[in-house]
Amino acid sequence: MTGSASAEWMLGPERDDEGHMTVRLREVQCRDCGETSGANPEQGVTDRWALRHTVDRGHRYYREIISADLVTQPAPTNPLYEQETVR
Ligand SMILES: [Zn+2]
Repeated sequence: MTGSASAEWMLGPERDDEGHMTVRLREVQCRDCGETSGANPEQGVTDRWALRHTVDRGHRYYREIISADLVTQPAPTNPLYEQETVR
């Protein structure tokens, strides 16, 4: 643990009302021109974007970017813990 201020908060995956982690998003970025597919949970969608981009532009180098939403929650030492705890 670090200092007392940060010890009052915990960082973890964001969850929906039923406790499931929110959907991870995938994005493909062209390393030749920087254009991106846009974030999408379906790999097929972003893969097809890259294949189409290769046909249209002739660019062949890509970067996969995965993102998952995080959220802070009050730690047990935080006065907000009793009011806000999400289980
Ligand atoms: Zn490109």
